[in-house]
Amino acid sequence: MSSRLKARGIIPRKSLGQNFLADDATARRIVDASEVGRNDLVFEIGPGAGALTTHLVKRAGWVVAVELDQTLISTLREELGEARNVTIVHGDALKVDFIQLAQEAAHAFGKPFGAIRFVANLPYYITSAAIRRILECGLSIATIVLTVQTEVAERVTAQPPDMSLLAVSVQFYGRPDLLFRIPPSQFYPQPGVESAVLRIRLHNQPPDVDAQKLFRVVKAGFSQPRKQLRNTLTAGLGVTKAQAEAALRQSGIEPDRRAETLSLEEWKRLTNYLC
Ligand code: SAM
Repeated sequence: MSSRLKARGIIPRKSLGQNFLADDATARRIVDASEVGRNDLVFEIGPGAGALTTHLVKRAGWVVAVELDQTLISTLREELGEARNVTIVHGDALKVDFIQLAQEAAHAFGKPFGAIRFVANLPYYITSAAIRRILECGLSIATIVLTVQTEVAERVTAQPPDMSLLAVSVQFYGRPDLLFRIPPSQFYPQPGVESAVLRIRLHNQPPDVDAQKLFRVVKAGFSQPRKQLRNTLTAGLGVTKAQAEAALRQSGIEPDRRAETLSLEEWKRLTNYLC
């Protein structure tokens, strides 16, 4: 990977989180993890020089690859050679309209897709924003496979009493699993931290609670780290302490518990009671 990039005069840009995957066996494992099939649409965020894209185009019905760095686009096109089932979009994955891109891809594919999947070796500086953007993009997604910092993968898959706003946000939409770790030596240039591959299988049915209301309550709960819920809800939701305590007790939650200890079920009960 490093010699191919050097030959093309490409210098990895730290500001764009460019650590290119340099191990082809690992690229295959990541693509396997996505469970992509011949009738599926795959969105890839940050294809770079195509380490994953070259495998994705062989297995997917259609691939839409969104890359921010214009200087990588011609390299990517060369790497993909004759592949016809790919759209390369020069743009910011945090801003593109995934619904419109999916409609255009379905038109080009000529029939409806079996499933929609996302795959990305994410630039670390946009990890949380990209996860949120994918989960909230409005498409019915089957799987999301992301390479992220190991610490982020552990936070996303955490259980009570180690929950965070990120863990609740992801687990609301799907079931995350940390599949395997990737040492820095498998990237060019080597990042300063270990990476891990995270797969999120999205729930078929949306949870039986209003998402907006639930996240208002969850954000209030996590607004002051390590404080008791009776206090964080009072401050975050503008209710009195007595109201917050009553709502917690009615939901079967002791008011002195902290947000990190609540399960998704408990957040749902509390939201349904409060709203
Ligand atoms: N997928 C390639 C690989 O595995 O070798 C590259 C991964 S590299 C960690 C992240 C890629 O995301 C880079 O190509 C970078 O230019 C691109 N990128 C950074 N910010 C982006 C954004 N906001 N939207 C789309 N691509 C972005």
